[in-house]
Amino acid sequence: MTDDTLITLAVAAILIPSVVLPYLLHHRKKEREARERFERASISGLQAAVTVHPQINAITCIGCGGCVRVCPEGDVLGVIDGKAVLVHGSKCVGHALCAEACPVGAITMMMAAPGRNADLPVLDEHLETSVKNVFIVGELGGLGLIRNAILQGSRTVELIATRPRTKDGAYDVAIVGAGPAGLAAALAAQAQGLRYLLLEQGDVGGTILQYPRRKIVMTSPVVLPLWGKIKLTEASKETLLALWQQILTKTGVRVNANEKVTALRTEGDRQVLTTSLGEYRSAHVVLALGRRGTPRKLRVPGEDLPKVTYRLMDTESYQRCKVLIVGGGDSAVEAALGLALQGTNQITLSYRGEEFQRIKERNRQRLQDAVKRKSVTVLFRSQVTRIEPETVHLETAEGARVLQNDYVFIFAGGEMPFEFLRNIGIRFQETVIA
Ligand SMILES: Cc1cc2nc3c(=O)[nH]c(=O)nc-3n(C[C@H](O)[C@H](O)[C@H](O)COP(=O)(O)OP(=O)(O)OC[C@H]3O[C@@H](n4cnc5c(N)ncnc54)[C@H](O)[C@@H]3O)c2cc1C
Repeated sequence: MTDDTLITLAVAAILIPSVVLPYLLHHRKKEREARERFERASISGLQAAVTVHPQINAITCIGCGGCVRVCPEGDVLGVIDGKAVLVHGSKCVGHALCAEACPVGAITMMMAAPGRNADLPVLDEHLETSVKNVFIVGELGGLGLIRNAILQGSRTVELIATRPRTKDGAYDVAIVGAGPAGLAAALAAQAQGLRYLLLEQGDVGGTILQYPRRKIVMTSPVVLPLWGKIKLTEASKETLLALWQQILTKTGVRVNANEKVTALRTEGDRQVLTTSLGEYRSAHVVLALGRRGTPRKLRVPGEDLPKVTYRLMDTESYQRCKVLIVGGGDSAVEAALGLALQGTNQITLSYRGEEFQRIKERNRQRLQDAVKRKSVTVLFRSQVTRIEPETVHLETAEGARVLQNDYVFIFAGGEMPFEFLRNIGIRFQETVIA
């Protein structure tokens, strides 16, 4: 055996145990964890996608795991048996970074099959509903995230702009909702020289207005009509809202704030919108209502007390308070963490489920740390039964409990405007499979 061969063998003998073996063990551990998460999610019914999700071509996938690493939601995907797999489909909100990261183009973003979610309206490829000339954009159509809402709002109005303009005094397009989707739609309408109307039941900003104070908003760069590229990849809620205001002022986009749309009917080739202040006729309607319009109530005695609220705007106003937060989603967990950060509050988080299944991985870890530090107490399998001025009554797995309490924050989701859409005649996915 030559000296060179001996040296090569010696290097291999060092490299294999010190580099290759740890890599293989780490890889195996990741696969085992992904398989366990997949099985847990399958049992709890959370594995399958509900709305948008990545579809993986198992033939072309090379199992590199790049898609798993870039997902901001943490555990939507995993690698099992050398292929990327949808592990927690219900957590996907449509970032689509996995599709961008895949080096072999094996991932396509898809909507869930009809019937998976009865909350989803039936939309064609242009986002037109089953009612002609009525479109749905943004989160109401099932696709979350600010960037997606902006893209859908502007593209839909650009399509409407290719259709004949009105000549009878009616609007070309009426846009309902001034969140990211509705604002982008209005900007596109102004850019295209359409006669448009933007109606908002509250203030401009949509769901972003309801984020906790100083919440960091993550969004990918996106182009806004009349404005150009917005590149705020990580900005505070306040920065984003200030940018919206700046855009409105500079572009002169008009908004009818505090005007709620209560009904919509078709008359010939015109849509007639009834609002809290009047009636309007338009050739097209773009519904950008979001999904959180009306907070869901617990319907328990005492819920109408002034200390009960459905959004947390300013954590710093709460000092040395006993606070109960109700809910099992990111909003509830983020509110609990924000209030706990003040360091002087006693925070209890009540959730009727056995574990938080839909929250972001980062929130899960931060909550675990807060629980270990005893700055947040979590009561799983608990339900509020009564709220009184100084106490809250809960039914828990261990029996009834009464907590001293100054404030209650309820994050039990929102009621989608189902009745409103159904009254218009918009079909939902459940009716497709019937
Ligand atoms: C706590 C939290 C954190 C989030 N963090 C992020 C993040 O970091 N990055 C990200 O990209 N996304 C985030 N999202 C999601 C994002 O906020 C939404 O996907 C986005 O706001 C959807 O935009 P939209 O325009 O479709 O709807 P919305 O923003 O919900 O706007 C809908 C608007 O319609 C109005 N409206 C409803 N009904 C009527 C009516 N009948 N008449 C008139 N007006 C009406 C509402 O008042 C509201 O202003 C987060 C969501 C939450 C709840």
